[in-house]
Amino acid sequence: MNAQIEIETELELENRYLLLTPGPLSTSQGVRRAMLRDWCTWDNEYNSLVQDIRQRLVALATKQTEIYSAVLMQGSGSFSVEAVLGSALAKNGKILIINNGAYGARMVQMARCLNIDTVELSYAETQQPDLNDIEQALTDPSITHVACVHCETTTGLLNPIAEIGTLVKVANKVWIVDAMSSFAGVQMDIAELDIDFLISSANKCIQGVPGFGFILAKRKQLEACQGLARSVSLDLYDQWHSMETHQGKWRFTSPTHVVRAFYQALLELEQEGGIKARQQRYQSNQQCLAAGMQQLGFKLVLGHHAAQSPIITTFLYPDDPNFSFQALYDNLKQSGFVIYPGKVSDLNCFRIGNIGEVYLEDIERLLNAVAAFRPV
Ligand SMILES: *Cc1c(COP(=O)(O)O)cnc(C)c1O
Repeated sequence: MNAQIEIETELELENRYLLLTPGPLSTSQGVRRAMLRDWCTWDNEYNSLVQDIRQRLVALATKQTEIYSAVLMQGSGSFSVEAVLGSALAKNGKILIINNGAYGARMVQMARCLNIDTVELSYAETQQPDLNDIEQALTDPSITHVACVHCETTTGLLNPIAEIGTLVKVANKVWIVDAMSSFAGVQMDIAELDIDFLISSANKCIQGVPGFGFILAKRKQLEACQGLARSVSLDLYDQWHSMETHQGKWRFTSPTHVVRAFYQALLELEQEGGIKARQQRYQSNQQCLAAGMQQLGFKLVLGHHAAQSPIITTFLYPDDPNFSFQALYDNLKQSGFVIYPGKVSDLNCFRIGNIGEVYLEDIERLLNAVAAFRPV
């Protein structure tokens, strides 16, 4: 079979499976089709597309659009987190990182690798951070920045960023939020939350394909990053400055097809009714999934925690020595679904995501497939 025919056969089969994972996730046909054209990375038609995307992102994040600006950055979401950490702190800066999962831990790893003076407040993955501990840690006057993950994708737990943010601002620190898996899936106004830097990426709740991340930051904070970067490729100020002064121009090769697909994803988000409607869809997916899986005998790791996000749900392995996650995984894949292994250190668990082009009927089909694999 020649390569061309092979690709067309794949397209005909459409998606072999639905991704029930927290990104990359299942995208719409419209988003995938938007990639079938090549673009010149410095042509002004392409650059205006970038400018349009930047404006739309700010408008999704806040009503106070004039205070904020958007920067797009090549790479996966972690590259954008690292760009912020490596560009926002001066040499004598010090960061407090709140860690209750794999992504909080990754920020600590990045900060240490960048030789940034770091204080870590760490908690179990199933536990929300303690506000008293944070208030106490913030009495250290040498701390300049605070970072926290919004939705810890490790478990699906939502951290109380409004309450933490209030403490951060009373102490007059710069506030960094990794909202990778929650932005556009959970309503928020970053000006009301007084967030200085928010990070997310193309392949999460906006439902684009992987290839770049983005940072929504206060203009005044971006200006303050000038000359501070610890990396050339991940220099947030330089990237922003290029996009501002050359109207949408990236410094180095940009992922053009991914950007075009992302634009389509933004239009589809708008058509769906914006973030409010998307959050409702994810929420009904999550509720249907959690209820159905419990009926099939699976327990929720977060129980009925009010902070369970609509993004992803973690389930314990059933109390059955014959249960094999690999067998469940393979069986569901045969039925057209891909689920996710667990990431909680001391628990045998697995995860099912409900973000992406996933609807209630998909969740119902999944539950039928699980029931067929493991009759109650
Ligand atoms: C997905 C995700 C990231 C980034 O992961 P990449 O694999 O680098 O895209 C960071 N933080 C959170 C909370 C995430 O869910």
